[in-house]
Amino acid sequence: MPEALENVRITLASRPKGSPVPENFQIERQPVPAAAEGEVLLQILFLSLDPYMRGRMDDAKSYAAPVGIGQVMEGGTVARVIRSRNSDFAPGDLVLSHSGWQTYATSNGEGLRKLDPQQAPLTTALGVLGMPGFTAYAGLRNIGKPQHGETVVVAAASGAVGAVVGQIARIRGARVVGIAGGAEKCAYVSGELGFDVAIDHRAKDFTAQLALACPDGIDVYFENVGGHVWEAVFPLLNDFARVPVCGLIAHYNNEAAEGFDRLPGFMRAVLRKSLTVRGFIQREFAAQRPDFLEEASGWLADGRLKFREDIVDGLDNAPEAFIGLLQGKNFGKLIVRVSE
Ligand code: NAP
Repeated sequence: MPEALENVRITLASRPKGSPVPENFQIERQPVPAAAEGEVLLQILFLSLDPYMRGRMDDAKSYAAPVGIGQVMEGGTVARVIRSRNSDFAPGDLVLSHSGWQTYATSNGEGLRKLDPQQAPLTTALGVLGMPGFTAYAGLRNIGKPQHGETVVVAAASGAVGAVVGQIARIRGARVVGIAGGAEKCAYVSGELGFDVAIDHRAKDFTAQLALACPDGIDVYFENVGGHVWEAVFPLLNDFARVPVCGLIAHYNNEAAEGFDRLPGFMRAVLRKSLTVRGFIQREFAAQRPDFLEEASGWLADGRLKFREDIVDGLDNAPEAFIGLLQGKNFGKLIVRVSE
């Protein structure tokens, strides 16, 4: 291996208070690790940036352990095997891995999935055919269960999860209302993605627009956001409405929730309207991944499932891109091109 190879890694320098800032991250340069017997050396090509990473930056009890101070930020990656001491992999193999924010990594092969770039562009393994796409599929299949003619509302509708939610709901015969930030994203959601209506949550009359767009109420609300979007949706929920609670990105930077206690009113509505409000983490439904891959690959091939990626060049730009993701600056699945 040429000696000049160095591993650039981005570690967690400090825990954010509220919104993350560039100083919370540290860029380090180290020699590339050697692959031990049974391991492969991976060169990272693409890194996925996802909202859950904000949770990993806090030292709080959650469904996954936090990233430690000084540790590499975690994340899903597409990588090329450049050295193999594992008989299951050969140099040149392309794999989906969870190698984090760095340019090289070793792996014992556990959890690696080989990718075929002839079947679908490599980046789709991080987006429409990857964890976010599966999240949309699993949340709808197991909790949302949209029926023909029902009204489905989804927030962050131009993003990695929301775009897939709306398109699957349309395939299932539902009427779909997407909520997104700004005119450009809304035009994409109602135009390219073919949702029935798109509404800008930044509009002054957003609540009134949403009510107008849902004359028969809301049967499924796929919750990605929380905050003022949930406030507008909640009164419109129909009897027996289902709410897959997938994410609450509007709250990820809050240190403590404050304000009027809406819990009693919420519980009254759950009872009176027989609501199903169910949180989930996609990996709970991991056994359904093969079904997802089969169905979603078919929809991609026949043009019913469209996707958009927002690709940022260079690992050094990952912190800024990630901070922007929490402010709605991305447009589509956010991915960093780590190397050519
Ligand atoms: P994304 O939609 O590609 O990007 C995040 C988007 O959220 C932003 O572009 C922005 O879109 C919107 N947003 C950010 N702050 C907001 C705010 N304060 N109010 C309203 N909208 C805001 O991200 P994604 O990867 O698809 O994730 C979407 C949600 O799914 C997140 O909450 C994430 O945590 C969750 N998720 C959950 C699971 C699970 O297993 N439960 C798995 C994957 C993702 P606009 O500009 O359109 O507002």
